[in-house]
Amino acid sequence: MDGLRAARYPFLKDASRFAEENSEGIDMLLSSEKYVEARKRGLNRVLGALKNHTIPDYRLKDDYACLVEVLSYPYARMLVSCIDDRLLTKRYALAEAERMNSILSKDPESLTQILEELEINAIGNNDGTTDLHFADFLRFSYVMRAVEWKLINMDVRDGYVRLPNDKFIRLLQNAYRSRIEEELPLKVPGEFEIYLQNDLLQIKAVLTEAKNRMDPTNGEGMKDEFVPPCIKAIIEMAQAGQNLPHSARFALVSFLHALGLTYQQIVAIFAVSPDFNESISEYQIKHITGELNGTDGYTPPTCATMKTNGICFNPDGLCESVNHPLNYYRRKSGKPFVKRSEIE
Ligand code: SF4
Repeated sequence: MDGLRAARYPFLKDASRFAEENSEGIDMLLSSEKYVEARKRGLNRVLGALKNHTIPDYRLKDDYACLVEVLSYPYARMLVSCIDDRLLTKRYALAEAERMNSILSKDPESLTQILEELEINAIGNNDGTTDLHFADFLRFSYVMRAVEWKLINMDVRDGYVRLPNDKFIRLLQNAYRSRIEEELPLKVPGEFEIYLQNDLLQIKAVLTEAKNRMDPTNGEGMKDEFVPPCIKAIIEMAQAGQNLPHSARFALVSFLHALGLTYQQIVAIFAVSPDFNESISEYQIKHITGELNGTDGYTPPTCATMKTNGICFNPDGLCESVNHPLNYYRRKSGKPFVKRSEIE
C-alpha cells in the first residue's frame, strides 16, 4: 500500500502492514526519540476529538509525515483505551469517523477498499448513487432520526437501498464509528502504560473539564429554582396523577437523567401519583435512561420539539433566549451555554 493511502485510512489492514514494514514495533513507538512526532500527533488526535470534536489537520507533505500519521493512529487508540471512558471513546470514534468521511468524499477511488475493510455489502453505480444491502442500511441508519432516513422513504430495489453517494458515505461514517466503539478499549499491557503516563494525565485533565462543562448542575444535584417551567408543569401533572402524554413522560425522564438524577430519584417523582405502577414506570424510565440497553440514554428534546409536541408549558422571559430546557437550567444557575452538539 502506498504511504498516502495508509495515512488517510490508518484503520485499513494494509495500513497496519505499512506501519510494520516501515517502523520498529510498538515498544519503539512508545519509547524511542525517533517516534516522538508520531506520539505527539496521536495525543493531538485524542485532544482534538475531545476539545473540538475533530481530528486536527496534519499535512502529509512527504513519506515521513505519512508514517507519522499512520503510527499516530494506534498510539491514539492506546491512549483512549487506557482511560476507558465512555464519553472520550464516543467523541474519539465520532471524530475519526468524520475525518474518514471528509477524506473519502474527495477520494472515491479508495471506496472499494474501505467497503471491504468494514465488511459492507454495497455496489457503486455510474450515476452518483450506491446500492447498499438493506440489512447494512438498517444496521447503520438506526441512529438517524430524521424521517428522510426511514426505510419506507427509500428507493429499494432487489434487497438493496439506492442512495446518493453523499448519503451513502454518511452511513459509512456510522459504520466506522460503531467499529471503533466496538473495538475499544484495547488491552494495553501494564508495562506500556508507563510510557503513556504524561499524555494520559493531559487527556484526563481535559476530559474532567469537558465533563464539568457538560454537567448542568456542576455536580451539585438538581435545584428546583432552576428547573424550566415546562418541566415543572410536567412534574406537577405527574404528581397529580394526570395521564401524561408519552412525549411529556419522555421529556421529563430524559431531562432528569441528564441532570444526573438516579433511577430511584426519578421513580420517586412518579411514585406520588395516585395510579403509580412501579413495574410500568421502571421499564419506561430504564428504557429512556439507557439502563436497559447499556447506552447513555436519550437526549432530552429541544424547545422546538417541546413546542411541536404541545408541552412547552408556561414559557417565561428567559425562554426567549434559550433553545433547550437544559440550557434554561444552565442559564438560570449561572452556568455558560452548551452547544447543541455537546448536549447530544
Ligand atoms: S421555551 Fe423551552 S425551556 Fe421554556 S418552557 Fe418551552 S420548552 Fe421549556
